[in-house]
Amino acid sequence: MNNYDYIIIGAGASGLLLADAMGSDPFFSTKKILVIDKDAKQTNDRTWCFWEKGTGQFDGLIHKAWDTIHFEGKKISKRTKISPYRYKMIRGIDFYNHFLNRLQKYSNITFIQEEVVELKESATEVTVLTNTAQHKGNYIFSSLFNYSMVTEQQKFPVLQQHFVGWVVKTERPVFDEAQVTYMDFSVPQKGNTRFMYVLPYSQDTALIEYTLFSESLLDKREYEEALKTYIQQTFKCESFTILDTEQGSIPMTCYDFRKHHTKRVRYIGTAGGWAKPSTGYTLMSTTKKIPKLISLIKKGKPLQPLKLKNKFWYYDLLFLDVLHTENARGHEIFESLFKARSPQGVFKFLDEETNIWEDFTYINACPKTPFLKAFFKRLF
Ligand SMILES: Cc1cc2nc3c(=O)[nH]c(=O)nc-3n(C[C@H](O)[C@H](O)[C@H](O)COP(=O)(O)OP(=O)(O)OC[C@H]3O[C@@H](n4cnc5c(N)ncnc54)[C@H](O)[C@@H]3O)c2cc1C
Repeated sequence: MNNYDYIIIGAGASGLLLADAMGSDPFFSTKKILVIDKDAKQTNDRTWCFWEKGTGQFDGLIHKAWDTIHFEGKKISKRTKISPYRYKMIRGIDFYNHFLNRLQKYSNITFIQEEVVELKESATEVTVLTNTAQHKGNYIFSSLFNYSMVTEQQKFPVLQQHFVGWVVKTERPVFDEAQVTYMDFSVPQKGNTRFMYVLPYSQDTALIEYTLFSESLLDKREYEEALKTYIQQTFKCESFTILDTEQGSIPMTCYDFRKHHTKRVRYIGTAGGWAKPSTGYTLMSTTKKIPKLISLIKKGKPLQPLKLKNKFWYYDLLFLDVLHTENARGHEIFESLFKARSPQGVFKFLDEETNIWEDFTYINACPKTPFLKAFFKRLF
């Protein structure tokens, strides 16, 4: 049995960023840290995209970046330069390789590949039982997310951002590699919020994702049929090769994940509620949470909850209430926002950097009735 000061469960986005922040901070140089993942993290299991102003901490890992955003609605079609922002893409495999290499250089951090099966917590420590061993830690940071964490309550609706993506290569050049299609709502909505996301790597290669914001997953064939039809109709391209696939489901909820923290176990990443409820974007919000968590750990308060509620939490709550009761209205809401505001303005709002007057212009741009209904339902 090995004893550690901290055990990080999961070497995904949040686990690796937390481990790296600890490894590079002299405060932790005398602490023993263990990172456990069931996976070797040697496959490209996801692609991360995010917008950012100027340069950023992941620039060395960028696979592709775009300066123009395309938004397609039922009534608007907008192609706009997004300076000073850039829309950036990182491949999962590049991220894992980079951070696992960094971890190897920290003598106080050990990475092991084991599957965690149970946590046994006592007053003084936590025993992490894996498929092959047991490890003891003073504090555990776990990124193990399970939908039952959020579905066993009624107070907050739980939607999913779910998608299947294909990296396709077409026979002739059909993509405009200078622009990313952030949302294309021209696809049939079928009573939900459904859109396509197109990320061209070159004129003949792109990652295309069929995405829904809704309660339930579809049958895999339905995502695939939608992708095929979209590629054939939008790009007039009968024949193409699928080079790679990805799929995912990200929880969209204002549920307070902090309820799962115990005396010695705190949840991080998606499991800690770090995904932005209204969009599912998690990577950049994780980079903002990690320094706050590190600061709490250094103050001897590793379990003190991070602040959850601000005005943006309430906006997200109303947005999800609306989508939960009227799922087909998503395209109308995004269309209103992109019609009234520039993409830069929308990014600023989604980054939670707008002031109350700016917020008013965004709220005012949205269809009023569903939001007022949701507001009064929450009030009474
Ligand atoms: C396909 C996909 C694409 C996404 N794209 C974006 C995007 O473009 N932008 C964005 O901001 N967000 C995106 N997200 C959402 C979010 O950023 C990611 O899910 C992110 O990886 C969340 O980080 P995490 O640390 O919470 O979880 P993960 O990165 O999923 O890490 C959890 C880790 O736990 C490990 N694990 C699971 N069970 C066990 C066990 N029993 N024992 C040991 N280890 C275990 C897993 O192998 C995994 O490595 C995407 C999600 C997916 C699934």
